[in-house]
Amino acid sequence: MSDLVVAEGLRKSYRAGRGRVAAVDGVSLHIEQGSTLALVGESGCGKSTTGRLLLALERPDDGSVEIDGRSVLGMGKRELRELRRTVAPVFQDPYDSINGRWTVSSIVAEPLRVHGFDDVGTRVRDLLDAVGLPAELATRHPHELSGGQRQRVAIARAIATGPDFLVCDEPVSALDVSVQAQIVNLLRRIQSERGITYLFISHDLALVRHVADRVAVMYLGRIVEEGATDELFADPRHPYTQLLLAAAPRPRVRTHNAPARPEPVVAQATTVGCRFAPRCPLATDRCCTEDPALRGLGEGRAAACHHAETARVGAV
Ligand code: ADP
Ligand code: MG
Repeated sequence: MSDLVVAEGLRKSYRAGRGRVAAVDGVSLHIEQGSTLALVGESGCGKSTTGRLLLALERPDDGSVEIDGRSVLGMGKRELRELRRTVAPVFQDPYDSINGRWTVSSIVAEPLRVHGFDDVGTRVRDLLDAVGLPAELATRHPHELSGGQRQRVAIARAIATGPDFLVCDEPVSALDVSVQAQIVNLLRRIQSERGITYLFISHDLALVRHVADRVAVMYLGRIVEEGATDELFADPRHPYTQLLLAAAPRPRVRTHNAPARPEPVVAQATTVGCRFAPRCPLATDRCCTEDPALRGLGEGRAAACHHAETARVGAV
């Protein structure tokens, strides 16, 4: 199978106080058609920015994005409109991204109307059925639904126009653990039925184990490790991945307004050496002076660590 999504050398920085923060700092990734790549890392490491760049919702400062062999950066208005039919986001809290005064059916119908589909009513009924929502919910409003039902509405809307590529950005992070599995299973079923390619963004490495074909671990704007899911879980090569795995599962504290993120932003000030060195139990002198590139380790594995062949962080 060929790659549907190919990004090379993506960079995106934002103004932050008097300086700039490099949200995405040289990210390349490939997603094979019909597969799921999970993008994992702590809050603030640049996952959502990467997702927005892949969907052409934002322009990178540098780098390229190709979807199905076509560069999204040079697209004109008509091509971008067609791209909007074929790529779609699923966000963490659909309540933020859908109009609360609309009914469920008008929320799901909107992309169909925008793209000139016929038989909108029938299609909406089929879509609600496809995401496991009873037809009588069609006339309800989002606030009358549970979190899981709202996320099903968001998924129905995202797949309405028959997209090839979905960016699912923390699609279950706002849901109770019992509901998370249902939504994850729904996304998997939709993928197998429709052959859609996914970027599945999560701060929770344990969660993606049963979702992703491949995993990319992100730290401070860069991918520090990538590999097939089973191999990455069985034998993580980057100390950061090892620490993430040792830490999971951890108690979840959900606060809507205050994501914990100070540490990565502070560490980003480091300009020489490995960005993870200040937190790495295995850091040597070399790690503090020489920035390790992401390098292939064979069999589709890659890691950005001078000690990737030998690094083993004990349980913490
Ligand atoms: P993640 O999704 O991994 O939590 P983000 O991509 O949202 O990370 O953010 C990465 C960094 O970029 C953070 O430091 C964040 O504060 C900053 N950032 C993201 N979007 C913006 C924006 N629109 N304006 C300013 N800073 C931003
Ligand atoms: Mg995010």
